[in-house]
Amino acid sequence: MRLLLVEDDPLLGDGIQTGLRQDGYAVDWIQNGLEAEQALSGGRFDLVVLDLGLPGRHGLEILRALRARDDHTPVLILTAHDAPPERVAGLDAGADDYLTKPFDFAELSARLRALLRRAGGRATPALHNGPLRLDLAARQVSLDGRIITLSQREFAILETLLRNLGRVLSRSRIEDSIYDWDSEVGSNAIEVHIHHLRKKLGKDWIRTVRGIGYMMEKRE
Ligand code: CA
Repeated sequence: MRLLLVEDDPLLGDGIQTGLRQDGYAVDWIQNGLEAEQALSGGRFDLVVLDLGLPGRHGLEILRALRARDDHTPVLILTAHDAPPERVAGLDAGADDYLTKPFDFAELSARLRALLRRAGGRATPALHNGPLRLDLAARQVSLDGRIITLSQREFAILETLLRNLGRVLSRSRIEDSIYDWDSEVGSNAIEVHIHHLRKKLGKDWIRTVRGIGYMMEKRE
């Protein structure tokens, strides 16, 4: 999952980025409102964590512009402790949730998972396909009840495939969802991860669609 973090406080931003990367997100961090607007107009993100008081452009303006483009990417806003009217304005401008600073990282983490669940129309924190189960909160994958140990990238690719069952995903689409701007991406990195996933899950789970990409078919 690709996440955009917009936060101008260097210490807080660094802490959130590190924590969310440990949660398995590909996190791009921007500290300026104008750059955030640019990134959102061009990039494809699965989630946005947005501070409101930002240099360049206020978070609310960024949010309003995003929704005005009919972009429904889930947004969680971070608001200052002493600014309740901003919270209301944020929700009215199209935010999906908010958190007041200072906050507990575990709560941010749980709220983001809840946003993704809602965006996917699911109530449970797990993705399923037949006997294959990916638990987002525990970050655990099991097949027929047996735990499968995956690397962070393998987990991220499997999550992307499970969220797009029956759809062919190009290599660049998969790269977009699992790597942030700071990542060094080898030209055959995705192939290598898919190879490892097939070794761990069995080779029938991920289909190669020649010249296009990869897909996972829905199973009963
Ligand atoms: Ca700020």
